Amino acid sequence: MEYANPQIKQVAEQLRGRLPNLQNKEEIFKAVELKALFDGIKTLPADERAEYGRELNGLKKELQALVEEAAGSELPTLESIDVTAPFDINTPLNQHPQLLTSDTGSKHPLTTEMEHVLDIFYRMGFNAIESREIDDDYHMFTSLNFPEGHPARDDYDTFSTDEGLIAPAHTSSMQNRILKMGKDNLDHDETIAYVIPGRVFRNEDLDARHEHTFYQIEGLYVGKGVHAGNLIATLKTFLQEYYDKELDVKTQPFYFPFTEPSFEFALSCPFCNKEGCSICGHSGWIELLGCGMIHPNVLREAGIDPLKYSGFAWGMGVDRLVMMKYDIEDIRNFESANLAFLRQFS
Ligand SMILES: [Zn+2]
Repeated sequence: MEYANPQIKQVAEQLRGRLPNLQNKEEIFKAVELKALFDGIKTLPADERAEYGRELNGLKKELQALVEEAAGSELPTLESIDVTAPFDINTPLNQHPQLLTSDTGSKHPLTTEMEHVLDIFYRMGFNAIESREIDDDYHMFTSLNFPEGHPARDDYDTFSTDEGLIAPAHTSSMQNRILKMGKDNLDHDETIAYVIPGRVFRNEDLDARHEHTFYQIEGLYVGKGVHAGNLIATLKTFLQEYYDKELDVKTQPFYFPFTEPSFEFALSCPFCNKEGCSICGHSGWIELLGCGMIHPNVLREAGIDPLKYSGFAWGMGVDRLVMMKYDIEDIRNFESANLAFLRQFS
């Protein structure tokens, strides 16, 4: 066989000459010259790769035939190389390239736990819609009763693009869309019942409790005669199911522009039953999330009459929920790509 590429031609001649003297004929596939030809693919301009790869495959097949002839044994057939495929780079040259398989990895613990969380809410009758990872000022603030210049906007140190789009700092950025989508159903005696899982972003100083990227699950429920007791019962039921034990809960008044009244929601520590431990800071209680009754302005903005309908909403940090479940001390583990940490959950 003749090769147009001078390097391939030269290596072909060298290897043909060396083959008869080799004790183990398959050693020829480990020749440094051959490896150098393969490595050479990466340095070529894209439009020359196809021709080069074709000739290189030809050389491989030629050597294959020579080795089989000399050894009188059958080797696996070598197929063409696909330079874009995710091959295992440790596969020896004389073996069929191994594609990397999915059983070398596992689900991220936050994915597994989010699936568990969603499963509980599905069973409670909620639907789910994922939040967007890039959004606008209207959905992040204005539609949630933060008019321009509102001081509470400063509580959210958001990332934004040159065009003025925002990486949402909370999953509440989906509230207005979902309320508008569901408002017509309210007049048919149906309710709006959604959870909104999503990734959110804040320009935080990072430490064991703060990460710039984390997950939330928002809840949104609207209907006739909905009151704060429904909110507390919903969250308590969810948390007892998630931690698989009886819990006490309590609320304290708080302030968010998009709920009125607003609460900070705490649960009795699932680890020490209110005795006090390191996880709850020896207080016996864990403040887990913010929630409240949806502000009339937020309902009105979506075209829902607050005199006829009412609803509640919450925003819960999923990382925090999972950290408590598994006694994880540092939130930064989740985004760290630390395999030793991740393998504990596989
Ligand atoms: Zn405790």
